[in-house]
Amino acid sequence: MNVQPAASLFLNGRPVEGEGDALPVLYPYTGEEIASLREATTGQVAEACKAAAAAQVEWAALAPVERGRVLLRAAAIIRERNEELSRLETLDTGKPIQETLVADWESGAAALEYFGGLAATVTGQMIPLGSDWAYTIREPLGVCAGIGAWNYPSQIACWKAAPALAMGNAMVFKPSEETPLGALKLAEILIEAGLPAGVFNVVQGRGAVGAALVTDPHVAKVSLTGSVPTGRKVYAAAAEGIRHVTMELGGKSPLIVFDDANLDDAVGAAMLANFYSSGQICSNGTRVFVQSGIREAFLDKLQARIATIRIGDPLDPDTQHGPIVSAAQAGKIRAAIAAGEAEGARLVCGGPGEGAFVPPTVFADATDQMALAREEIFGPVMTTLAFEDEDEVIRRANATGYGLAAGVFTRDLARAHRVAARVEAGTCWINAYNLTPVEMPFGGVKMSGVGRENSAAAIEHYSQLKTVYVGMGSVDAPY
Ligand code: NAD
Repeated sequence: MNVQPAASLFLNGRPVEGEGDALPVLYPYTGEEIASLREATTGQVAEACKAAAAAQVEWAALAPVERGRVLLRAAAIIRERNEELSRLETLDTGKPIQETLVADWESGAAALEYFGGLAATVTGQMIPLGSDWAYTIREPLGVCAGIGAWNYPSQIACWKAAPALAMGNAMVFKPSEETPLGALKLAEILIEAGLPAGVFNVVQGRGAVGAALVTDPHVAKVSLTGSVPTGRKVYAAAAEGIRHVTMELGGKSPLIVFDDANLDDAVGAAMLANFYSSGQICSNGTRVFVQSGIREAFLDKLQARIATIRIGDPLDPDTQHGPIVSAAQAGKIRAAIAAGEAEGARLVCGGPGEGAFVPPTVFADATDQMALAREEIFGPVMTTLAFEDEDEVIRRANATGYGLAAGVFTRDLARAHRVAARVEAGTCWINAYNLTPVEMPFGGVKMSGVGRENSAAAIEHYSQLKTVYVGMGSVDAPY
């Protein structure tokens, strides 16, 4: 299998070969090298930012409806090619084709449609001040840097590019070094849709390339999707230049199941919240709090359904659970499983697995103090914890530095809304989990992040206000 792109980078409207270190792209299922890329040098990062700064001026001068039209055309191209793009996404990430066909480029296209449509609706405010008045203009920030994680590479590129471009910014995007291919496709598609050269650029590389991008003098804003430790570094580097930031970071989210819940739905949601994309999802509900009366029934149903999960070749349309993105990540997940066993949690099913695969794994009898219940694993590992009552579970659910998401399953509507109000999370699902349509804001509180992606809320994170005061009379100076 060979999916070598025309070149490693996309600078100023065309593919350009990277001149930095080698960046092999491995298919997680087989370990086979499917493309051989090169990182961008610091000079090439600077070149990308310079091209973006030059292109941004003309792009911002277009009528918003014209910018929107380009994004809508790009979305239509993505939808036409969804099958071919999803196959590439599966090769890049190892995620099952039955997932990538519906969740990756599809969600990226929705973001381009949403922000393409929204572009022309963004207006300022007129502020009456007696005889004088003021008005506001929402202006682009300039050049935005986007830095992605490896779990949803093409979706992340679209979620960042769509609002940025809609508001008249240019972007230099660095995908994760593990999954560099999708962003290059997005760059090609945007050009085909009519985007002027230089408005969307792609550089490749590991953390050092990301660091060079964040501190480039042309960059006005940085949007990162990644882990908390990386977020801390990127936020600090951005602060040096007082750059705007959006930080989409990790989590250890609680999913709370009360004893009146529809058990089948709660079990299904807990599985989606832990095993979709082999558990490599930031908002996963990895701490499943189950009220003690239904604990055994919950675990029995869970085990029975896990036994039917089809694990295997990600390109087989029947496969439901694919490999982990890299051997390094599989190793980290196995270490977390081993630590959970050593800490005394009960392994209900699954375990370390072998090769590229870690099977759906469930722990019971865990305590809040165990690393299993505190640290983000980013793999298919569910930790179940028993609880007695609402106050107790809220206190325990909130006893974490993270705050990305939460879920509650109950048939008691008043309780559902009470819990949603009390959990410290950017998103709380009631009788659902991990649904992130573009219409609703997404992002974290506490250490899970700053800012929001998707929805009209994202507009504020890709623009700034200019206020214009209009004096209508003579100037009343006391001098
Ligand atoms: P990571 O933090 O290792 O890397 C993220 C990106 O940052 C990569 O592109 C990497 O090259 C880059 N990077 C690393 N060091 C850098 C530096 N010093 N300066 C600039 N860039 C740097 O994360 P990962 O392992 O790729 O992804 C998994 C993490 O991402 C998990 O913690 C997960 O929860 C989080 N995540 C969050 C969201 C969200 O929306 N909140 C979505 C997906 C993943």
